[in-house]
Amino acid sequence: MHNRPPGRRCGIVIAIDGPAGSGKSTLAALLAKKYGYTNIETGAMYRALALKAIESGTALDDGNALVALARASQIELDPRPEGNRVLLDGRDVTERIRQQDITDASSRVSVHPRVREWMVERQREIGAAGGIVMEGRDIGTKVFPDAEVKIFLDAAPEVRGTRRFLQHPPAANQEAAVLAELRARDERDRTRASSPLVPAPDAVLIDSTDLALDQVVDRAAQIIEEKMGKLTGGAHG
Ligand code: C5P
Repeated sequence: MHNRPPGRRCGIVIAIDGPAGSGKSTLAALLAKKYGYTNIETGAMYRALALKAIESGTALDDGNALVALARASQIELDPRPEGNRVLLDGRDVTERIRQQDITDASSRVSVHPRVREWMVERQREIGAAGGIVMEGRDIGTKVFPDAEVKIFLDAAPEVRGTRRFLQHPPAANQEAAVLAELRARDERDRTRASSPLVPAPDAVLIDSTDLALDQVVDRAAQIIEEKMGKLTGGAHG
């Protein structure tokens, strides 16, 4: 392969971080397809743990109990062209974890430092060989601070709320509720003590508020190919 840095068998690590509704998942999936990379949605792992907590009656504010639950769980991501299938203890929970109760619970589960440590360890194992696009909130800052490409994707809250609503409409006329939930989740993600949502100092910021999807993809591809070119001493592959 043309773009293998030392120590990464399958290619570079492309880290995509940003708030909910910024378009990370769509961008990550398209980039993975473009470069033949594996797309890893780390939010799905927090969501799977949140589902297990709810089903087992584990309190969402009990970090120790949650980390014990995580250790006793099998959370697997099965990357497919249409997105990650998510398996919790062998059960396909892909659709279930997108529901609103799990969205809310995942953001509560993710504030606990020991839960985050467990997740970060798993995510490093999954991505160690490179050749991945990994998206989340702390990929460039914590999971892969040495990622070859770091993109922080953002957009105005109103735009993100509308996108999220169109993606998973809970019911008609609930757009305001979706925006309120998204703001609450953002606030929690940005202000938590452990790995808050912030751009890594060396991340490239893309604000997608006024950009069409193909413009966002073009900008990201430009950043990635510049980096790949540098890694091969100027030759693009
Ligand atoms: O990305 P997604 O919306 O599926 O993530 C669900 C929740 O999981 C987020 O609101 C965030 O609180 C948490 N999360 C996180 N760190 C990540 C990915 C997700 O804290 N790397």
